[in-house]
Amino acid sequence: MERVIADRTDSIIQTLKARGLRVTPQRFAVYANLMHRADHPTVEQLFHDLNQNAPISSQSTIYSSLQALCEVGLVREVLLDEGVCRYDANVAPHHHFRCQCCGKIEDILWNELPDIDMNHLRSRFQVSGYEVTLYGLCEKCRDR
Ligand SMILES: [Zn+2]
Ligand SMILES: [Zn+2]
Repeated sequence: MERVIADRTDSIIQTLKARGLRVTPQRFAVYANLMHRADHPTVEQLFHDLNQNAPISSQSTIYSSLQALCEVGLVREVLLDEGVCRYDANVAPHHHFRCQCCGKIEDILWNELPDIDMNHLRSRFQVSGYEVTLYGLCEKCRDR
């Protein structure tokens, strides 16, 4: 068990270094936390969760760690509700599902949706990418 944790710690440090980031306890904690969750937390949620184990930082430190991680492409911002920035360590292209009842956000693999045909837009826009947000009820809320 300890061995597994040590390996994981090592690989996170290596990942940060490989992107040219100086490894700080805050960056490490923020990235390690994001790697192990898929709920797309806000900076407030991260702050709350990280400080449950040990008081590691202020909200603004967590925010600046997130900015650094975003800049090197290890974390991305996800904007699904107006004015609310969420963070995702899954930087591969993917879509999202958002539950309109409980607010839960889940990743949808890119291949789970058919490709969108952009050909009829070609003359008007130069499209460099897209992603889809699906709305509805998650499993839990549907069964209630
Ligand atoms: Zn739900
Ligand atoms: Zn996501």
